[in-house]
Amino acid sequence: MNYINYSCATINNLNINKEIISDIQAVATRYPFLVSSSYAGLIQAPGDAVWRQCIPDVRELEDDGQLADPLAEVSLSPVPGLIHRYPDRVVLLVSNRCPVYCRFCMRKRHVGCGGTEPPSRERLDQALAYIRATPAIRDVTLSGGDPLMLDDATLHDILTRLRAISHVTVIRIGTRIPVTLPERVTPELCAMLRRFHPLYVNTHFNHPAEITSASTAACTLLADAGIPLGNQTVLLRGVNDDVAIMRDLMSGLLGIRVRPYYLHQMDLVRGTAHFRTPLASGLEIIRALRGHISGLAVPHYVIDLPGGKGKVPILPDTLERDGDQVFVTTYRGERVAYRDI
Ligand SMILES: *Cc1c(COP(=O)(O)O)cnc(C)c1O
Ligand code: SF4
Repeated sequence: MNYINYSCATINNLNINKEIISDIQAVATRYPFLVSSSYAGLIQAPGDAVWRQCIPDVRELEDDGQLADPLAEVSLSPVPGLIHRYPDRVVLLVSNRCPVYCRFCMRKRHVGCGGTEPPSRERLDQALAYIRATPAIRDVTLSGGDPLMLDDATLHDILTRLRAISHVTVIRIGTRIPVTLPERVTPELCAMLRRFHPLYVNTHFNHPAEITSASTAACTLLADAGIPLGNQTVLLRGVNDDVAIMRDLMSGLLGIRVRPYYLHQMDLVRGTAHFRTPLASGLEIIRALRGHISGLAVPHYVIDLPGGKGKVPILPDTLERDGDQVFVTTYRGERVAYRDI
């Protein structure tokens, strides 16, 4: 498994106040700290939305009550690095590195050099053997870490071996690279990926400030290679738990041919509690989006239930029943009677 090389910002060229450098270093001994130069370049001021996503915060160390793996991904792994939770689809962890270690990451236990055992050739062989031997699997998502941290030749090898399994129809790649290292998305990469259709990419934008000329160019290259692009956003306190920000983000994504897919309620992962919002924030955001902006721009708001029970969409209450009458609340807040049969 060969990884790409790229340029990172250092703690010294991030313009960090001396007093908090030791805090950052303390956090980094537990949860790795790394920021690509391109993502660091989006920071406008200490404490802004980009900063909060990538600069360690002492509150990460204060949150000890949560589990490292609340979604029970490890126990849902028939072989290491493969998560089989739903009957027909699996997640294959092919990389434990990312250009930026997001402070809210749900796989904090896994990413970076301090994480669990990194994906190896032998582990990949085992996972592919399991997929080959399990005909119910029709959909494989490459995840990590970030799969696009692997070099083109390694990715090509993994995709070729997956495509050789006839019951695997859909291949998805979950990647934050268009945001965190957009220059990684090259014409060569896209020319390679397009040979493995149907291939879908789900990316991960959390804030309108992440929609830049560079991330737009990356998404354009992918979309021009015929790759349908979806987006997963994590709802983050102090970053994007705001109706106007979410509206700009979701319509901005549609404008660069990325279709909002999921808005995730923060998982109960250790070290991330300071980002968590009440469900009411997410419901309020969905209420403010639905009907007010293009339906194509409205994601499903989901909770990934603890214990590996799966993702469940949640919606604002719009339905009340009275006999065979139901009362439905419209996007304008009007209550309308509708006869059910
Ligand atoms: C999210 C997820 C999937 C994919 O779910 P979709 O709803 O089909 O996007 C598959 N496996 C696991 C373990 C997941 O967490
Ligand atoms: S890019 Fe994804 S996997 Fe990597 S640290 Fe960020 S959220 Fe976690």
